[in-house]
Amino acid sequence: MGNILAFCEFTDGVLRSSALSNIAFAREAATHHGGEVIIILVGAGAAAAGAAASKFAPKVITVEDPGLANYLAETYAPIVAREAKANNATVVTATATAVGKDLLPRVAALLDAGMASDIAKTTGKDTFIRPILAGNAYSTVQISTPIICVTPRQSEFEPAAELGSAGTVTASAAGAIDALGASFERLDAQKSDRPDLGDAKVVVSGGRGMKTGENFKVLEELADLLGAAMGASRAATDAGMVPADWQVGQTGKIVAPNLYFAVAISGAIQHLAGMKGSKTIVAINKNKDEPIFQVADYGLVADWEKAIPELITEIKKLKASR
Ligand SMILES: Cc1cc2nc3c(=O)[nH]c(=O)nc-3n(C[C@H](O)[C@H](O)[C@H](O)COP(=O)(O)OP(=O)(O)OC[C@H]3O[C@@H](n4cnc5c(N)ncnc54)[C@H](O)[C@@H]3O)c2cc1C
Repeated sequence: MGNILAFCEFTDGVLRSSALSNIAFAREAATHHGGEVIIILVGAGAAAAGAAASKFAPKVITVEDPGLANYLAETYAPIVAREAKANNATVVTATATAVGKDLLPRVAALLDAGMASDIAKTTGKDTFIRPILAGNAYSTVQISTPIICVTPRQSEFEPAAELGSAGTVTASAAGAIDALGASFERLDAQKSDRPDLGDAKVVVSGGRGMKTGENFKVLEELADLLGAAMGASRAATDAGMVPADWQVGQTGKIVAPNLYFAVAISGAIQHLAGMKGSKTIVAINKNKDEPIFQVADYGLVADWEKAIPELITEIKKLKASR
């Protein structure tokens, strides 16, 4: 019998929605390993986020220290590995976000654990299914080490619901922190009032067919009306139309919102790999033969220059009538 240690990301005292998918996976793993889910929160604000996290698991461990104020895999990994051992964890998990994908392989190395990355499904105690070749094939991997490290894909696990009663929250001391010569210099992040692309319930993405960065303003207006995050194809980000961190796809972010707008995006497999887990996909493209229409729930063959302003007008009318 072993426990499941779930490393969860948080912002402003609450778990990120991507973390809820990690907890959903951890609960599934707990049924196979017979133990309980233990959430670990590390970094600035961990103690404050403990109460919110305790609604999702019977036990929460928080580790906060000035030396952990900014994420560094070098400083976080030893703490996660230490808590895994101390809490008899046979599985250590983190959502396959940029942080999760950076952190867990290092945790695995410290624990001599096998690693299953980017998994879409679990079929038993040690067997996982993961997409390969931009989502065109699935491989089944079996891990034979006593401890297993896993990064589940947010898009494949429904966010976990709160439990009936809150779990315990325990603060654990960071101990000696050694960044192994690495240091945090600065974070160059785009400041935005919109939701984070990875957590958003609605995403409005534009592609090369938007032609210029200026033209994205109309998509931003649509996004703001819907409370959506902005996304883009790699063709649009590579052309410098919009920031690189808007990129959705195989080499960008993987998103799974309730509603995804693909505007002037052809639907190359590398783009689909990042958004085809969306619940409802709306495609607007002037060419009816584009592959995006094969995954779309609603397809509109139209020029965005006409369709998007019309859509904005109708949404405004609908909002005004309420
Ligand atoms: C290793 C690798 C990794 C990659 N990773 C990614 C990734 O993570 N994400 C990603 O997106 N791509 C990725 N790509 C690139 C990918 O193969 C495509 O080149 C890219 O997705 C195309 O972007 P697009 O659909 O915006 O452009 P295009 O394929 O050029 O499509 C533009 C679309 O706009 C439509 N259009 C034009 N004008 C209008 C108009 N006025 N109104 C309506 N529609 C219009 C056209 O019909 C067309 O469908 C990767 C490629 C490689 C090789």
